[in-house]
Order: sequence, then C-alpha cells, then structure tokens
Amino acid sequence: HVVPVHLNAVAGGVVPAGRPEGRPDAVLLTFRDLTAQRRVEQMRADFVANASHELRTPLASLSGFIETLLGPARNDAAARERFLAIMGAQARRMSRLIDDLLSLSRIELNLHVRPDTQVDLNGILAHVCDTLTPLAQDREVEITFSAETGPATVRGDRDELIRLFENLVENGLKYGISGKKVEVAVVREPGPGAGTAAISVRDYGPGIAPEHLPRLTERFYRVDVAASRDQGGTGLGLAIVKHIIARHRGRMSVESVPGEGAKFTVRLELAAGAEKSEVSPAA
Ligand code: ADP
Repeated sequence: HVVPVHLNAVAGGVVPAGRPEGRPDAVLLTFRDLTAQRRVEQMRADFVANASHELRTPLASLSGFIETLLGPARNDAAARERFLAIMGAQARRMSRLIDDLLSLSRIELNLHVRPDTQVDLNGILAHVCDTLTPLAQDREVEITFSAETGPATVRGDRDELIRLFENLVENGLKYGISGKKVEVAVVREPGPGAGTAAISVRDYGPGIAPEHLPRLTERFYRVDVAASRDQGGTGLGLAIVKHIIARHRGRMSVESVPGEGAKFTVRLELAAGAEKSEVSPAA
C-alpha cells in the first residue's frame, strides 16, 4: 500500500496524511506550489493599500480645508472661494476614483463571460472622438479619425468598448498634449473568420520610456505620479482597458519612441457578416 505524503512547497514541511497499519510499499509525494496563490494574495493586499492611500490623500486635504474654513479663513471671502474650488476638485477626484474602482471590479467579476452584442466599431469610435472634441479643443489638440475597414462589426459590450477607447484617446490628449494631434485609425487585418480590426490611437507627445511599457496596465502604475494627478488621472485607466480587452478576447500592443509619441493598438476579432452590417449613426 501507499502512504500519501503532502509536501507544502512553500512552507517546505512534509506532512504524513495518515498512519495506516504496517510498512508502506511506497510513499506518494504530492507537491502544491503556492507561489502563484501567494502572489495573487499579495497583489490583492497591495491593491487595497494603494486604493486606500489614493482615497486618503484627497480626504486629508478636504479635512485640512474644512478646519481652515472653520478657523483662520472664516471671515476671508476670497480665501473661502478659492478653498471651496479646490475642495470641489478633490471631491470630484475621489468620486472618479470610486467610479473607476467599481468599474474595474464589475468588469473583473464578468471576465469569464464574453459580451455578445453586435457593435458597430466605426460608430463607437466616431462617437468617442465627438465626445472628446470639447476637451481636445480646450487643449488645442486636434483629433482625427480614419476608418479603412468599411462597415465593421465586433461582438461585445458597447458601453465597455466606448470606455476602452475613451480611456486611450483621453490619455493621448492628456499626456500627448504637446504633440497637438491625436490620430485614431482602424484597419482591417486578415485572419481567421472575418479577420481582425486593428484600432490605433496615436499621439505625438513625449512618449513612454521602454522600461515602463510592460507595467503600464498595472493598477495605479504611473510613469509620473504628479503629471497623472495634475491631469485628474486615477492610475486605473489602462488597467480598465486591459480588463475590457481581455473580456472581449482581444489584444493590445504599445509602441513608443521617447520624444516622438506613443501608439496604442487594440486588436479585436471582426464578427462574420460585418461587411453587410449597417453603419449606425454616432449616438
Ligand atoms: P492615469 O489615470 O494616470 O492616466 P492610466 O492607467 O490611464 O492612468 O495610465 C497609466 C500611466 O501611463 C499614466 O499615468 C502615464 O504616465 C502613462 N501614459 C498613458 N498613456 C500615455 C501616453 N499616451 N503618453 C505618455 N504616457 C502615457
């Protein structure tokens, strides 16, 4: 007979699982590598610590201003106006962060369910460019959109796909502002079935140094924390992008030459019969 012995690879301990009578003919060793599990636990703990820190910073600032308004600045109308404006901005930042955290956890919960509505890709991209035009004008950046695919349909969740491309175009406007131009383009690439749509968002700003590229989609990872905060960033935009793409079984690549800008390309499988589908007007 065989005596099973469980060996915990992380703890390194050998634990006999039972004491059957007699001498065993063999010993069965089972190995369970807990490294991956520990890594997930560590990531979860880091995430909670980061999220708490991100919320605590604006909260501390709000408390500070409340004290000042109740004390030294009580009768100073000009200071009051100024402080209230800052407090409003901090409250908006907290609410953006909470929205992003909730989006992230909702998408993550549904990661295994592939969304399956027919979505007109060019329609949503035109919609994203339209929605962000006021922000672009405010920053004196021009957004251009070109679609070389003809009508293109993907299967997915319309709101999530809008969110995905909004995040990428917004990043182009925020970080690539000096380049004055953000280009959104769609091309059809051959592949199995109806082929693939490659959607790129390119800016001509400072770009991203190569050592940062692999970490960009980590939650709260920012190349320049101060620049991200100045732009109202939460550090969760690209993590949300990554999860939406995973749910749609797509891929993303990033190319950047520092000083010349950044190009994010998302590849999504086109739905069969895409060439026959109607182009819906940008909503
Ligand atoms: P944030 O809320 O800070 O914008 P993201 O997850 O969207 O968070 O992006 C993470 C970081 O990646 C940003 O803080 C920025 O440093 C960098 N980044 C993203 N897009 C660009 C871009 N187009 N050009 C330069 N840096 C970028």
